[in-house]
Amino acid sequence: MNLYGTSFIGSTRGAKTDETFNAFDPTTGNAVEPAFHSASIEELEKAANLADAARIPYGNLPGKTRANFLRSVADNIEALGDTLIERATLETSLPNARFVGERARTCGQLRMFADLLEEGSWVEARIDHAIPDRQPIPKPDVRSMYRPLGPVAVFCASNFPLAYSVAGGDTASALAAGCPVIVIAHTAHPGTAEFVASAIAKAVKDHEMPEGTFSLLFSKGYEIGQALVKHPAIRAVGFTGSRRGGRALMDLAAARPEPIPVYTEMSSVNPTFFLPSAIEKRSEALASDLHASVTGGVGQFCTKPGLVFLPQTAETSAFISNFRYQIANTKPAPLLTGGIQKAYKDASETRKSEVDGFTETTSTELKGFDVNPSVFEVSAADFLSKPDLGDEIFGPTTLIVNADSKEEMLQIAGDLEGQLAASVHGDEADLAEYADLIAILETKVGRLIFNGFSTGVEVCPSMVHGGPYPATSDSRSTAVGSRAITRFARLVCFQNFPDSALPEELKDSNPLAIWRMTDGEMGR
Ligand code: NAP
Repeated sequence: MNLYGTSFIGSTRGAKTDETFNAFDPTTGNAVEPAFHSASIEELEKAANLADAARIPYGNLPGKTRANFLRSVADNIEALGDTLIERATLETSLPNARFVGERARTCGQLRMFADLLEEGSWVEARIDHAIPDRQPIPKPDVRSMYRPLGPVAVFCASNFPLAYSVAGGDTASALAAGCPVIVIAHTAHPGTAEFVASAIAKAVKDHEMPEGTFSLLFSKGYEIGQALVKHPAIRAVGFTGSRRGGRALMDLAAARPEPIPVYTEMSSVNPTFFLPSAIEKRSEALASDLHASVTGGVGQFCTKPGLVFLPQTAETSAFISNFRYQIANTKPAPLLTGGIQKAYKDASETRKSEVDGFTETTSTELKGFDVNPSVFEVSAADFLSKPDLGDEIFGPTTLIVNADSKEEMLQIAGDLEGQLAASVHGDEADLAEYADLIAILETKVGRLIFNGFSTGVEVCPSMVHGGPYPATSDSRSTAVGSRAITRFARLVCFQNFPDSALPEELKDSNPLAIWRMTDGEMGR
């Protein structure tokens, strides 16, 4: 299958406009073919109008019909075979095996939402029957459930070309909720985006979905993405990327005549606390596990442990020496884009002047978008006096903070910004002794991990991949797991409607046999 290099505007392909851009091979820094053509404002307008026209017909399809559609998207992605994996590898330099796993996760997510729709109870139907003779006033018949929000703009993530991009978690949950989707491809992996978009477009056609159910826009620069967020047809936004980019989109959406919800996942340093017993009993294994977590995916995971707190024990200096040794002996590796490489180098230079210790790979042979993995070290007192030490540096680096006392750990935890995750290593006795630390961390993060690392996010119904700002724009939501669907749905109440005019989910006979709360009692 060849790449064509133009946007998907509903069922048609965009024009070969004059404005083009290429992906780059991060191992060399050279551009790779073909060129991709930015969508024009007219094409954006057409995609948005098609999505608007699809809003009611797509949103009103039975859950089982949308489930079959999502399953076909997954099947079509798998049918792309090695072509997809090889292109993703070329555009990111991440290994083939990573994409075999990421493809399985992407297709697994689509099928998870298909299962959710087939089961049907996600709509949280509630029914309160009328009591016409209630005194002093009659009680009306009141029923409510989740309904789709309408067209969603999804921005692809640089660091997850499959699982958080064209058919990734945001798209899957929005389509599952009954929302048409317009995706903005990431400039780092447009070929991967085109292949996946072709898989979705085929499913739209084969299942005779409304034409505007899905579009994909290529764009160089921010004009098209910003125009999309401002377009009146768009009812919500999903984004994963930088704090600067996410915040810009939040502000744009809030400034619209009709503001809309924006679900951005931005920056997180995922603080990792080693309590005394962990360092005393498992120092060597933990240093290796931390190294794997910091350098995996060249440190380009939103869940990378970017801040590590160590207590003063007899084993602490051995732990640090061991970890530094492993970092010094890690090969340089390319980051995803020249921009991410520059951000890493610039932030590292600044940080060097602010800390007490610094170790990096001792390699001079850097090519393409290569960087050296590194570790910084600072005292808790210095960390507390320099707030920017808590900022994320995206890439294979972390900051070790040496805490002299439990009180220092508590103070630092209390000052932390919102995070996706925090890890605590120790034993059950530590958890009891540091209960106040856990209580503080619970207010800061979406996920608390005991004796594990924050990288590796299980896709399952109970997962929470969210957290207070700036980890995300809305701490009440999750971007991973089946609860992600409610980001793109809103509650609608039907009062005194006859049974024949109600959605299936709210009819008295419960024809879909879903779990509902009826007059305060759960049942199906
Ligand atoms: P990014 O610069 O935020 O870009 C993400 C997407 O949003 C891209 O499609 C980008 O367009 C678009 N965009 C960015 N700012 C915009 C704006 N003001 N208006 C409209 N569209 C905008 O993120 P990135 O390219 O993935 O990486 C840059 C930095 O983001 C990294 O160095 C890292 O710090 C951070 N990051 C964090 C995470 C995380 O999960 N914590 C993940 C990825 C990146 P273009 O493609 O045209 O640039």
